[in-house]
Amino acid sequence: MTISTAAPRRTFAIISHPDAGKTTLTEKLLLLGGSIRSAGTVKGKKSGKFATSDWMEIEKQRGISVTSSVMQLVYNDVQVNILDTPGHQDFSEDTYRTLTAVDTAVMVIDSVKGIEAQTLKLFKVCRMRGIPILTFINKLDREGKEPLDLLSEIEETLEMETFPMNWPIGTGKRLKGIYDLQNETIETFTDSHSNRQIIPLKDADNLQDHERENLEEEIMLLDEAGNDFSQEKIQNGTMTPVFFGSALANFGVQSFLDAFVNLASKPKPRKASGQMINPEQDQFSGFIFKIQANMNPNHRDRIAFLRVCSGEFERGMEIILSRSGKKMKLSQSHSFFASDRETVNTARPGDIVGIYDSGNFQVGDTLIGGGERIQYEEMPQFPPEKFAKVTAKNAMKHKQYHKGIEQLVQEGTIQLYKTPYFEDYILGAVGELQFQVFDYRMKNEYNVDIELNHMTHELARWVTKGDVSDIVSDSRKMLVEDQQKRPVILFENEFAMRWFQDKNPGFELSSGWEIL
Ligand code: GDP
Repeated sequence: MTISTAAPRRTFAIISHPDAGKTTLTEKLLLLGGSIRSAGTVKGKKSGKFATSDWMEIEKQRGISVTSSVMQLVYNDVQVNILDTPGHQDFSEDTYRTLTAVDTAVMVIDSVKGIEAQTLKLFKVCRMRGIPILTFINKLDREGKEPLDLLSEIEETLEMETFPMNWPIGTGKRLKGIYDLQNETIETFTDSHSNRQIIPLKDADNLQDHERENLEEEIMLLDEAGNDFSQEKIQNGTMTPVFFGSALANFGVQSFLDAFVNLASKPKPRKASGQMINPEQDQFSGFIFKIQANMNPNHRDRIAFLRVCSGEFERGMEIILSRSGKKMKLSQSHSFFASDRETVNTARPGDIVGIYDSGNFQVGDTLIGGGERIQYEEMPQFPPEKFAKVTAKNAMKHKQYHKGIEQLVQEGTIQLYKTPYFEDYILGAVGELQFQVFDYRMKNEYNVDIELNHMTHELARWVTKGDVSDIVSDSRKMLVEDQQKRPVILFENEFAMRWFQDKNPGFELSSGWEIL
């Protein structure tokens, strides 16, 4: 694959409920871009549902599988970067953070299931970030929900307008094709799915009269009751263009990709230290949104994933870590790569590169080529909803224990809080899976058995105003501090929080990031 370094970039992540077809769609997209050697490159094929432990085994096997973390394809002279998001239904902060590094999200929905509750939160996060969301409604070859119902479901649950780009003619066994609403053509569906056939509606002789009438009726309905197409609304994420297809049958995928390269957002200016940094500016800048430890316990190397935001990143260049001002030369020992572990020599805004890291970087760090020490906006901190006290089972291992906690917290695996005076460690997570991953990695990478005592608290509120020295922790609330030593109160539930607020009107509380 040859990539023109000057090719425009489109960087996106697919968000979906497990089994909706993310992997299958990714494979088909990569094949269209001619950029994978075999479809299996995407990830170890799954066979049915995995238990959590299997999931971790897979992560372990994948190890530092950068290939599956960042993928690239070139299509119509556009370089498309795809970021993988963990395919597990449990929320993970990792997924959320990955969304800060993309310019567009593709939402894959299983036409049989519609929007599934566990993934709704993820979709809403995209919605809140105001990034364009393109929707691919998958598995059209199966009897699914009514297309109109699927559109209303998206409109109602995500509070965004929909704009169908194409429309299915039948579903499941009666699937005849998809109708392109702009070009008034039909892409016909045949069982052999060999040749892509696109014909004007009037010439479609595979349609029976009632199918044609049905289609015409639905088109009329969409014309009258549907939303007007708005490029602007798509760009600010208040309207989602909707595509129908079947990833497995490679049906509608190319039409989707054709439209994707036009509709997806290009790398936009991003906010850093109160200013907007233009991708076109000469000075290199970018931020680290993810750190992945090498799962091979013999090597402690980590990979820091950098999103390039402006200028050009060159191999061997000297960069400055904004947080500390430390200068670093990313030479041999820091060689970096994008897809397929190929070492890349230059990277441009929108690109993601992996940098070997021996412990210098933290999630959220800004790297610059020079000039003013700007800092990209903080990674959104997600209000954890689950808490557990953590201790080492064997006190003799306190050194490894502290080292493990420090590194895993730096990587953003989990959030850490401490109680005042006694300095008990409390872990905070958005989803249960984070605790399990933490436990597993402490054991496997740091050789420490830990004990986790789950707490009943489920709300964290940062105290932005008020004197916390008088707060007495009890069963309903607990005062802790976060990594930056900011006071946080953990409440057992909403009721306990409201009770506290009623009794302490002088206090102001904030949830790290208001999501829902
Ligand atoms: P992921 O968990 O979202 O990555 O989903 P996968 O891509 O692994 O797909 C989950 C299952 O759905 C697999 O068995 C796929 O073969 C199947 N699948 C994916 N796309 C389609 C489709 O368009 N039609 C049908 N019938 N099955 C599909």
